[in-house]
Amino acid sequence: MPEAARSCKPDDVSTEGFKARYLNTMSDIITLPAPPRLAIDGSDDTFPVARVFCIGRNYADHAKEMGAAAEPLFFCKHADAVTTQDSLPFPPETDDLHHEVEMVLALGEGGKIVASGVGVDLTRRDIQTKLKAKAAPWEIAKAFHQSAPTGALRLGPPPASGAVTLSVNGEPRQSGDLSQMILDPAAMLAELSRYFVLGPGDLVFTGTPAGVAALQPGDTVEACVEGLPTLRFTFQPETDA
Ligand code: MN
Repeated sequence: MPEAARSCKPDDVSTEGFKARYLNTMSDIITLPAPPRLAIDGSDDTFPVARVFCIGRNYADHAKEMGAAAEPLFFCKHADAVTTQDSLPFPPETDDLHHEVEMVLALGEGGKIVASGVGVDLTRRDIQTKLKAKAAPWEIAKAFHQSAPTGALRLGPPPASGAVTLSVNGEPRQSGDLSQMILDPAAMLAELSRYFVLGPGDLVFTGTPAGVAALQPGDTVEACVEGLPTLRFTFQPETDA
């Protein structure tokens, strides 16, 4: 075992601890892909993504439209869910792909918020409904490739209030306000931190207001949180290939 690895205690979650743990003196047999990177608004800097945490049922009106109790819950997506492409292939294996506009928190060292932005939590609602009925995990409904289009980030603390809206082909679909969140950013990070060691590169999707509905190939989505950079993307039209 390399000296650095032996000296790294399992509970050492500092930046130096992470570095020591991943120090490698051997030759890797594969090369990992680079992480997705989000633009910082008004800057040439970027934010590399490590993990994606999501909170569900954080707006009472959305929990109600899903027929669920307004009790926040957590799930995860993989880093490859995050995409900044403005033209996306329509995801496979769903006849009911839903949009969920969400404020996104970007975390730095120690799991502290360094920036925020706008994301869409794409959901295979047809599959999620079946999974819920079986009390089964949600990954195949939630954690698929490119299931989390995310816009540019704005540095600094996230807004505490402001409109959260989403339109499809210019038609309004979702509308709410950040102030309606059941768990605010500080409360959700405190809750998440009971179960996970939050750290640099983590994103937290903070939940969606009411109005979720289905998307189709060819649709253009515009997602807004007042005060943060707008996110726009279009699904490529269906082909017969
Ligand atoms: Mn969501």
